[in-house]
Amino acid sequence: MKKLIMILVLCCTVWLKVSNAQVNVARPYVKEEYLQVALNIWINDMKSRGIDYSGLSRIKSITMVERYDRSGEYDRGTNTIVIAYMTAEAGPASILGVLYHELGHGVFSFGHTANAIMRERSYTEREWKANWPVFREEYLRSCKQHNESIFNW
Ligand SMILES: [Zn+2]
Repeated sequence: MKKLIMILVLCCTVWLKVSNAQVNVARPYVKEEYLQVALNIWINDMKSRGIDYSGLSRIKSITMVERYDRSGEYDRGTNTIVIAYMTAEAGPASILGVLYHELGHGVFSFGHTANAIMRERSYTEREWKANWPVFREEYLRSCKQHNESIFNW
């Protein structure tokens, strides 16, 4: 009986640690409200699929920049993400797509071949909208696989 209680306590402790790790993921600094909304959508996707996204706490900030050579960028050195204003001007699907892409680099270390969202090419607002349900599913599967790959040694 004592052993059983010990095991039960141990299980509860492990479970609490795992669930706390998810609750206490530090969020990066984000100024713009539409970026906050987009980040919330990404976090909800992670939570609803039970994906460990604790790597988000590495990202210090997600800010808007005036850039015309690319839609967004993750800087591994400073652990910051920038999104170009032209991405925001393209529309909400572009913001979401580019944010998911950069968080894919920053949180899951995805390269440009991991899934359609991670491709290096840039999509138009119309393409993001038309493909979003399929792109999103594929992306979330990659995140889940990334979680599980930790246990495949
Ligand atoms: Zn990229």
